[in-house]
Amino acid sequence: MIEYDEACELIFKKTNQLGTDDRLIEDAIGCVLARDIVSPISVAPFRNSAMDGFAVRSQWLEECSANSPRAIPVGPTSFAGRPALHYAADSHALKVMTGARVPDEFDAVVPFEETEYNNDEARFFRPAVPGQHIRPPGEDITRGQKLYTEGTTLGRLDIGILATIGLRTVMTYRKPSLRIIGTGDELTDPGEELVGDRIYDANTFTILSLVAPYCDRVERICRVPDSKEELQEALDSPHDVIVTSGGVSVGERDLVIDIAESCGWQRVFYKVRIKPGKPTYFAVRGKQILFGLPGNPLSAAVTCSVFLIPALKKMVGLTDYRLRPKPADLPPEESRKPDRKLIWPGFIRKEAGHTTARFSPKKSSGSLTALLGTDGLIIQDTTGVESGDVTVKVIPWSDILKL
Ligand code: AMP
Ligand code: MG
Repeated sequence: MIEYDEACELIFKKTNQLGTDDRLIEDAIGCVLARDIVSPISVAPFRNSAMDGFAVRSQWLEECSANSPRAIPVGPTSFAGRPALHYAADSHALKVMTGARVPDEFDAVVPFEETEYNNDEARFFRPAVPGQHIRPPGEDITRGQKLYTEGTTLGRLDIGILATIGLRTVMTYRKPSLRIIGTGDELTDPGEELVGDRIYDANTFTILSLVAPYCDRVERICRVPDSKEELQEALDSPHDVIVTSGGVSVGERDLVIDIAESCGWQRVFYKVRIKPGKPTYFAVRGKQILFGLPGNPLSAAVTCSVFLIPALKKMVGLTDYRLRPKPADLPPEESRKPDRKLIWPGFIRKEAGHTTARFSPKKSSGSLTALLGTDGLIIQDTTGVESGDVTVKVIPWSDILKL
């Protein structure tokens, strides 16, 4: 049996990035950039109008006012994507639509609403400020500007920005393929009828939901019976990551470890001094990694959160992959007497710079509803219980589940 910190270090030591991929920008949401993104173009690429109106020379309007408007003949129209080619910039205003090129000879745009006009001429009622309503080239982005640094996780708001600089693909860290195996003769897929002494398979769904953002492809297999051949076939697959639930305790049908090792998996550790989640198993086979998570549903959720997710974060290129629990106060009546490091869901309150933690009242590692409404995980060490000097650390779900 090893300590929690040691287990984490071993996992990180054996877990590596998978190289890079060029991905279509729309498929890159949630991926980590493997390169800085420097804009190859300026946006806007050319001088254009920010309004529908008339491009003018501001000097024409210097003297005009509401009482003494200035009438100027109207020339052709410059449309977005279809600039006017022939215009008389010394005598005629140019009709311009939003996004249309404004030729250099004009230094201001007056919106239609501020004029009175017909097909032949427009009347202006006040002076124009040089540059008004004109978007200079590079107003938003300049060519060569660094927009993103390597290691950034792309979010949904980023994809349009990549498109606006003309990128069709971006280089990101590859995400793993992952297979989830629910083991146990008793499991039934939700939606099917429960017969005999069956239960519904919760764990493969817990794991699936928690890991999906970090994976390219997730295959969920429920249920692999506790039999040698079928487990062997399930464990002997080429996925980057394999996760099992159940079958790692000391029960007579807990076969996962023996069978994994018979198909080439090499044990890194088995059993961690934590509660829940003691029988967690971790193995490698070449560059593949295997997590044997416990079957008890809360144990599976907790070990997935504290072991598997940080490993996946590291794989996909996040540098901030370690969980960083923060100190919190535990009301004395909340203190438990763990014989292993307790990592239990709970409630976290912050008031006046003070963080208080409370454990979820459910105390069984079989109670998945211990997660209901909780804010994160609360970690209590075995020390300090006798002296009444218990401090805990907390880590919110938002940090654990961050992409
Ligand atoms: P095991 O580690 O296989 O002995 O399983 C421990 C407990 O977790 C048993 O009560 C199992 O029925 C239960 N269990 C195992 N796998 C799952 C699963 N996928 N979903 C819900 N409960 C499970
Ligand atoms: Mg089992």
